[in-house]
Amino acid sequence: MFWGDASRPAYCEPPVVPGHEFVGRIVDIGNEAASRWRVEAGDRVVVEQIVPCGECRYCLRGYHWLCRRHDIFGFHQKTQGAMAEYMLLPERSRLHRIAGHLPAAHAAFAEPLSCSLHAVERAEVGFDDVVVVAGVGPIGLGMVAGARQRNPRCLVAVDQDPSRLELAKSCGADVALDIRDGDPVAKVSELTEGYGCDVYFEATGSPSGVVQGLKMLRKLGRFVEYSVMREPVSVDWTIIGDTKELDIRGAHLGAYCWPTAIRMIESGLLPIDRIISHQLPIEEFATGLRLVADARKSVKVSLAGF
Ligand SMILES: [Zn+2]
Repeated sequence: MFWGDASRPAYCEPPVVPGHEFVGRIVDIGNEAASRWRVEAGDRVVVEQIVPCGECRYCLRGYHWLCRRHDIFGFHQKTQGAMAEYMLLPERSRLHRIAGHLPAAHAAFAEPLSCSLHAVERAEVGFDDVVVVAGVGPIGLGMVAGARQRNPRCLVAVDQDPSRLELAKSCGADVALDIRDGDPVAKVSELTEGYGCDVYFEATGSPSGVVQGLKMLRKLGRFVEYSVMREPVSVDWTIIGDTKELDIRGAHLGAYCWPTAIRMIESGLLPIDRIISHQLPIEEFATGLRLVADARKSVKVSLAGF
């Protein structure tokens, strides 16, 4: 998707300044924007990653996160990203004020957390649900924390990294399953009298996470896909219709979840100091990118510009 293939053009428009998860202070702002977002120069803000066009069918119907133009900071020429001293926010940017006393790395976590919360809303997690979050990187951990807010019957985290599973428990998981300790599908079956889970969040980024979810869900269960996949996925598609009548739901960006994400961060509900495994000065960005590439060495890496 990012670099294009035979069937679609590249989404990225290089050369572009990257960075779509950020926090900063307003240096200058026009009166109209200031009154629209109830902010002023000097305020600390987080900004939604997408700058909607305001004119396409999706924008006009309130689905701005699916905007046809889809200008996201750090990907398109029109929306240069945050790895810079200053950013220019186009007029349709969506700003949210955030507490000035928070560490910058905590505040910037509003972006991934809003994405996780949107996935939880897509899943319509209910009180009696057994909920599985597969893959507890930063997005999966936010899904655990978000699902915890709905207080389901049982919240299960699945991963292959013990330290991430510990973090998932700190975010509110009742059960942490390490896939190296045995088949997680069998374990979830045991937890549910053989039925399977009600909700499955796919946040592994791996085709095996999709196959696992289709097996783990009960009939009429809900599968929420959030991963960006490097490879195409092959599954037994029949499970969705003929066998289980599943509800497969995509989720993208954070939509209307930013205020809740900010509230959760400001109230200290998440162990963000542990989720942000590394904080580096921006001069060491190359080291930071290498750390991100190795999931065993880092969870979330933050760069501080000033
Ligand atoms: Zn639009």
